[in-house]
Amino acid sequence: MSSTSIAVIGGGIAGVTTAFHLARRGAHVTLVDDGGSGQATAASAGIIAPWVSSSDGSYYEAYAAGGNFYPEFLSQLEELGIRELGYRRSGALMVSADAADLDAVEERITRRVQDAGPVAGTVERADERRVHELLPALAPGLTGLFVSGGGRVDGRLLRDATLTGALALGARHVPDSALGLERARTGWRIRTTAGNLDADAVVVAAGARVTALLEPLGVHVGISAQRGQLVHLGLRGVDTSPWPTVHPFAEHYLTPFDGGRIVVGATRESGSGFDPRVTAEGQLQVLRNALELAPGLATATVLEARAGIRPVADRGVPLIGRVPGADGLWMISGYGAGGLTMGPLFGDAVARDVLGEPAPDLAAFAVTSG
Ligand SMILES: Cc1cc2nc3c(=O)[nH]c(=O)nc-3n(C[C@H](O)[C@H](O)[C@H](O)COP(=O)(O)OP(=O)(O)OC[C@H]3O[C@@H](n4cnc5c(N)ncnc54)[C@H](O)[C@@H]3O)c2cc1C
Repeated sequence: MSSTSIAVIGGGIAGVTTAFHLARRGAHVTLVDDGGSGQATAASAGIIAPWVSSSDGSYYEAYAAGGNFYPEFLSQLEELGIRELGYRRSGALMVSADAADLDAVEERITRRVQDAGPVAGTVERADERRVHELLPALAPGLTGLFVSGGGRVDGRLLRDATLTGALALGARHVPDSALGLERARTGWRIRTTAGNLDADAVVVAAGARVTALLEPLGVHVGISAQRGQLVHLGLRGVDTSPWPTVHPFAEHYLTPFDGGRIVVGATRESGSGFDPRVTAEGQLQVLRNALELAPGLATATVLEARAGIRPVADRGVPLIGRVPGADGLWMISGYGAGGLTMGPLFGDAVARDVLGEPAPDLAAFAVTSG
């Protein structure tokens, strides 16, 4: 049991997974989260299929490593008796009306799936009949590439389950706002609305709001806010549980869940600022794209609309690790559109780093202050 006290600011996927992995290692952890609106994790679509993404370079490496770590993370939760996560590996289906699009990526996707091993499953070229069999609501004329290991998870359930796991392992949850950070005699002092909280080390995992905490310390990390909106649709009397996630060659997608719920999204509104509103324009865009891709959803019920603010790093890769010039301070932010996938792995990496245990090399994600 480590006697070091560590505070984590932020209760999205970055913060809860860090708190969980710290608690697993016996640290005294306090998680501070204000439950503010616009949490990206709460809005996320839940796709865990990095192999079909258009990302590359270090971002893709992180994304893929996050996907590979999922089974291990889920088994860590399961050891605590936590199973209800809305997680299912029903595959990821890339589709296009132009077979040349699929030809152009097939080799790359196949290589990625092979590199990932069993977690990614297999790749299958799907003709129009097979595409329709996999997801009958899709438009005619599409063929596809089906990656059998693609998965999806309910971001809210996963967040809550991870926090529950952390609390079961001894972590403390403070539902409050961190108003500011200052150096204390040893470590750091967090000013909250209810008073001060001192810790030997602090991990700032405040998503797109990370800058509000770091800039007063003279640390400028280059994280921008990008709004994402999506819509949850409901189909009555249809077993959607075996339906795969669907990825046309564009930024929108479908994520089917059990019980007839299909999430369609999402906008990528760069320059939105931290403005977590659902807008008429955003909803129009999401629904138009979804119904063009899957006309069979036209009569579905609109269950709810969500908006979340993605933390996007100007440098194009997440910023993970020690904050320069601030001993005892770490940050995790900038996961962009893949944070639900990357969170568990990097929460573990940062927990190790904070506790001085051997950790994966985070050099590609090193935090710099401009
Ligand atoms: C529409 C949408 C769809 C997405 N789909 C996917 C997907 O399919 N797959 C995938 O892998 N990723 C997806 N993502 C991306 C993923 O959701 C994000 O990358 C990830 O959730 C970011 O997590 P985070 O913990 O860094 O930030 P957040 O989830 O935003 O959490 C930050 C937390 O910090 C708290 N906080 C901030 N400041 C303070 C403070 N001063 N005091 C106390 N608390 C504070 C906030 O209230 C919040 O709870 C999607 C995102 C969006 C918006």
